[in-house]
Amino acid sequence: MDESSATGIVFSIQKFSTEDGPGIRTTVFLKGCPLHCPWCHNPESLSPRPELVWHALRCLGDGACLKACPEKALTRAGSVLQIDRKRCIACGICVEECPAAALEILGKKMTVTEVMAEVRKDSRYYEKSGGGVTFSGGEPTLQSEFLRELLEACRAAGLHTALDTCGQCRPETLAALLPGVNLVLFDLKTLDRDALKRFTGGQLDLILDNLRLADSRGIPIWVRVPVIPGYTDSPANIEAIARLVGSDLRHVERLDLLAFSNLCLAKYEQLGMEFALKGSPLFSPEEMLALREAAERAGAKNAVVSGPMRSNGPA
Ligand code: SF4
Ligand code: SF4
Repeated sequence: MDESSATGIVFSIQKFSTEDGPGIRTTVFLKGCPLHCPWCHNPESLSPRPELVWHALRCLGDGACLKACPEKALTRAGSVLQIDRKRCIACGICVEECPAAALEILGKKMTVTEVMAEVRKDSRYYEKSGGGVTFSGGEPTLQSEFLRELLEACRAAGLHTALDTCGQCRPETLAALLPGVNLVLFDLKTLDRDALKRFTGGQLDLILDNLRLADSRGIPIWVRVPVIPGYTDSPANIEAIARLVGSDLRHVERLDLLAFSNLCLAKYEQLGMEFALKGSPLFSPEEMLALREAAERAGAKNAVVSGPMRSNGPA
């Protein structure tokens, strides 16, 4: 075996990703996050543990899962299967018994070797496109030892690595990981200390310390701002972030303005969670371009807009 048998909880390995760094990439999503952003696009990433989800459209309603569950964690209310998450231990017995593949465990324990076997399958695409592997989540630094070994394994295999982080981690943890990282994708939501704490639980000073730490190591950084209606979309917020990256930091290569997406709604429903931005409209291209112009006026050298946007007319 050429890699460690260290294990972590992975909730997805996405191939042919083109939005998580340069070139064609494989993005490895690690489970667990210290923040609770109301707009989170990956609600399945929040808990560090594997979780059971129910796909309503596939369900036959035959009740095989209810009979199979040893923890009595499942009940039916009309046509809806309810999962008592305090009782469910994600053992997967109901998944095995379901005749319709209507149940699924999100989050799988994997070894470094298993992850690398998946990642290596697309090596030739990375080489041709200038791509590589991105570690995302959740917040991947939460599984720091697993991540450190994955980064080491990528380096040994000659693969470009990107770390997608919200910066909410101990500086010592980040410092130990950075030697294996070729690009940092740093999520920066707002520079309003109180709003950040209130909406996400994040600590702005810690996050900025970590951003400066990454910058001090000379690693290229893409700062990524989720542009969220009512939370982070004010021109004042975008300009403040643009001023910070344009003046204080030396290795920020681009500022990504990621337009709010509501494509995650189905995931919230499968997990029995509320999506706080359920009724919020998408931004128009004009609104996003106006924010990009504001960012460039404030000093961002390379501001890039992406994400779903509405066409003409009301959302
Ligand atoms: S995963 Fe296990 S504990 Fe959870 S509902 Fe299914 S059978 Fe019950
Ligand atoms: S076993 Fe599967 S198909 Fe049957 S009720 Fe349960 S979830 Fe639905």
